[in-house]
Amino acid sequence: MSAALQLHDDREQIYSRLTSKPTASPNYEWLTCMIASWCVGQGVLPDYLGLESGQFNELKEHFFPGCGLPEQAPSGSKLDFNRMLEKDDLVNLLKQFSEPDNPETDWIISIIVAGCLGSDHLWQDLGLWSRSQLSAMLQYNFPELAAKNDKDMKWKKFLYKQLCEAEGLYLCRAPSCNVCIDYPKCYGPEE
Ligand code: SF4
Repeated sequence: MSAALQLHDDREQIYSRLTSKPTASPNYEWLTCMIASWCVGQGVLPDYLGLESGQFNELKEHFFPGCGLPEQAPSGSKLDFNRMLEKDDLVNLLKQFSEPDNPETDWIISIIVAGCLGSDHLWQDLGLWSRSQLSAMLQYNFPELAAKNDKDMKWKKFLYKQLCEAEGLYLCRAPSCNVCIDYPKCYGPEE
């Protein structure tokens, strides 16, 4: 595709403009959905999708050359990573369970970490189109980590619980999830 994206198009139109290039990577589909949402102001991803500008340009050249992706978040979203003290821990957690030295996984990690700054469900903050897309993206990029979520905990809660447990911190109010009054907050429907 050579023409720049028309940001007044709806999400589905942008998606179909972006998906003109076949690619073998499943991440392409999820990135395309997130970018289509980002272009219409959905989700919380900030400028450069939360990536460093150099990373963003690499992603653009790799998956969406000539597509005219904007660099600034059309929503105006400005996430404040300064209030995210756990940023490095989240990055390290995801890296620990991912294939090393894979730029594609690094892009996904940075995007997920940015999405964690939002206040909705993680799939919504990322601009994915369904929770099942997020589950599939995590299972593909971090299979062993995703497999630990065998009770289908909400994904953002699950990631933060991994951080607490890694630090030996158990901030939950109950000794186990089964007897916890907050159970619906952690495991209820995430749609
Ligand atoms: S259900 Fe309760 S114990 Fe389990 S993770 Fe949530 S807050 Fe913690």
